[in-house]
Amino acid sequence: MSHVITLNAGSSSLKFGLFSLPSDDPVAICTGIVDRIGSAGATIRAKTSDGRTLGGDVADGIADHHEALNHVLDLIIQQFPAANIAAVGHRIVHGGPDHDQPILLTPESLAALDELSPFAPLHQPYNLSGVRASVERFPDAVQVACFDTAFHRSHPWVNDTFALPTEYYDKGVRRYGFHGLSYEYISGHLAKTAPLLHGGRVIVAHLGNGASMCGMIHGRSVGSSMGFSAIDGLPMGTRCGQLDPGVVLYLMDQKGMSVDEITELLYRKSGLLGLSGLSSDMRTLEKSDSGSARRAISYFNFRARRELGALAAVLGGLDAVVFTGGIGENSALVRERICVNMGWLGIELDHDANTDHARIISTPLSRVQVMVIPTNEELVIARAAARFVYPHMYETLLDKASPAAPPPADGSGPE
Ligand code: ADP
Repeated sequence: MSHVITLNAGSSSLKFGLFSLPSDDPVAICTGIVDRIGSAGATIRAKTSDGRTLGGDVADGIADHHEALNHVLDLIIQQFPAANIAAVGHRIVHGGPDHDQPILLTPESLAALDELSPFAPLHQPYNLSGVRASVERFPDAVQVACFDTAFHRSHPWVNDTFALPTEYYDKGVRRYGFHGLSYEYISGHLAKTAPLLHGGRVIVAHLGNGASMCGMIHGRSVGSSMGFSAIDGLPMGTRCGQLDPGVVLYLMDQKGMSVDEITELLYRKSGLLGLSGLSSDMRTLEKSDSGSARRAISYFNFRARRELGALAAVLGGLDAVVFTGGIGENSALVRERICVNMGWLGIELDHDANTDHARIISTPLSRVQVMVIPTNEELVIARAAARFVYPHMYETLLDKASPAAPPPADGSGPE
């Protein structure tokens, strides 16, 4: 049987998965993460589908993504010697304005994606270095790029633009939106398990270290809280979320901060960490009784409620809310605080179901159904890669995620 490897390279981490390809849907055999690439204390940890834990500390450290990938492949080859790697699927943060689907990676398409690095300098170069390392190790495997921006290419123009002179839009200064693989998974899952809701107006809250919300109609993205970069929208673990651009001008002009210093501030020192002064981790903040931890959580929930209301207005009403991501799937407290007093929007949370982390956490009489659905970005990547290897066998996977009808793309529909 053939297998697919999925790779998701961050600036200092590399998430990976190994999937087998039976005839209906890829099956995860092993998933894991290499952490602290390029600094002391690197680790590799993985879990197998039969319950084993693999990996551990890497004594000599891991210098770069090439080395990280070699560690991953050594682990896979050692633990799964019969694996026949037919394809490697890569999560690529930026596909630019044109890519609304996964693509086959060739030297030409890789060079074109390099050109997009200035749009996502903290992610794209690492993603692409993961691709190059993988091509070296698996020259015969199909290499597939899955873009975080692709799912949002169905946005109407009004939700895709900033009110800058139009030449900037033409130069690529647009609201791209991110977390698209997670939203695609949720959309496909709804199509299969709740087709009526999938055909309606849904807001998905992907709340993890990175956090965003997406408004969908017919399973397609109509609006997203993230924009040009993955800093916009909701506050995150260490990212500030929505910020008046005047703040950046002030920091540059009056405080003499450099681009690097502001980047460090907005991406790594803000969000839950900056507000609490304690931690970027929601679990730690929920356990803390410090006032700053409580205020950080309050701000997170406040912005999420605000974005929920804004997206409901964009959708022209609401049929369902889906919580996903580490916080969305696990924090009953955050879900409760976001949904409290939302009766005006048709949301009535079932307190007990929410505390029990049930799949449906709204009351039977709630006009809007509120759900918790664990996301699975790796499966989306594995499916995309599988379609390139066995287009006939896996073509139905396309149907699972495709919408009943596209929303208007010209701005004439929900704005
Ligand atoms: P990433 O964006 O890196 O994939 P995750 O989706 O794994 O992140 O989400 C990580 C966040 O989820 C952290 O803030 C973590 O504290 C939070 N989280 C995980 N489990 C819980 C829990 N039981 N209660 C509250 N927060 C949780």
